Amino acid sequence: MASIAEKYGTPCYVYSRAIIESNFKAYSAAFGKRRHRICYAVKANGNLAILDVLARLGSAFDIVSGGELDRVGAAGGNQQTVTFAGVGKTRAELEKALKADIACFNIESIEELQLLAQVAEALGRKAPVALRVNPDVDADTHPYIATGLNENKFGIPMADAMDVYRQIAALPSLRVAGVACHIGSQLTALTPIIDAAKRVMKLVKSLHREHIEVDHVDVGGGLGIVYDDESPPAIQAYVEALCQIIDPCYRIVIEPGRSLVGAAGALLSRVQYLKQTPQKTFVICDAAMTELIRPALYQAYHDVLPVTASIEEHVVDVVGPVCESGDFLARDRKLGVSGGDLIALMDCGAYGFVMASNYNARPRPAEVLIDRDKFHLARERETSPQLYATEYRLT
Ligand SMILES: *Cc1c(COP(=O)(O)O)cnc(C)c1O
Repeated sequence: MASIAEKYGTPCYVYSRAIIESNFKAYSAAFGKRRHRICYAVKANGNLAILDVLARLGSAFDIVSGGELDRVGAAGGNQQTVTFAGVGKTRAELEKALKADIACFNIESIEELQLLAQVAEALGRKAPVALRVNPDVDADTHPYIATGLNENKFGIPMADAMDVYRQIAALPSLRVAGVACHIGSQLTALTPIIDAAKRVMKLVKSLHREHIEVDHVDVGGGLGIVYDDESPPAIQAYVEALCQIIDPCYRIVIEPGRSLVGAAGALLSRVQYLKQTPQKTFVICDAAMTELIRPALYQAYHDVLPVTASIEEHVVDVVGPVCESGDFLARDRKLGVSGGDLIALMDCGAYGFVMASNYNARPRPAEVLIDRDKFHLARERETSPQLYATEYRLT
């Protein structure tokens, strides 16, 4: 970490190729001979080097925008393995994905279905679709990342699903490919996942009775990781549970994001100042909510490890330079660092860089992939002029 800081500067995201590969292999080993497709959720971390690592392992991809489809292609991924999720796909995005011949459109509303049918007909194509149904289960996670309750904007209510499938089966420009759900992220218990899969299988059986056949059952992503003291199911236990619920005649599709890349990333930062106030001690570092918004947005916990330590441990808040009191990275932690020391915020490989912003005119950080004994620069640090290169003064 110290040599990366030396070579590439801070703040800097650092990823481990080995950890990503070992997580992917854990999924594929757990499936064994079961027919399956692992669609990495690009939104967790869309860096081309990360996508490249996964594409080389044979990963498929789950996307939520046309931009992510472009990224998959640019990284050498196979666009024909792509599943396209999201409640607001535009006409242009549907066209782009149809032309790329993606594997499945996960449809979230009747209006979207109608638009897709129209666009597919105009292009002379048959669009493969799965309905994303809302199983109405409580995923027991942070409310911002729970998606499987009837009150959420996601999916089609289970009660309407049969009827919508009948409409799909009757439309010549659509083809029933599967059924999908995704109940949320950072799930740390199997029960809601199992409940959702069971409800989805009930629907699959009702469809079968009406001779509407799906090829795959997509249970989404969401498997949690250990940030603090959580105890999420192991990848193997999760996959085994799915294999038990979903009949072997169906291909199991999963869309893991966080559980593949979350633990494979750290945010490396240099301490600028130690600031003592009557109430608190602040470690002010060169990373901020602009690099890692998860603590501010989700009250998320990230371990902070000293790369170098120079003073005795005491309780501090780790904060950035951004002009917001919400700009904190960690609170009430025991650390022995002062100006000049390096710290690593752990488990930042998912929903870290992808959520970075340029607030306060802060260039986004560099990203480095550790690949065996080499450092691979996965993204250059942005420069300040790049941030306003597409702006115009008055003429
Ligand atoms: C975000 C998302 C995922 C990935 O979730 P993780 O918690 O990162 O595994 C998968 N599928 C859909 C539809 C999503 O929105």
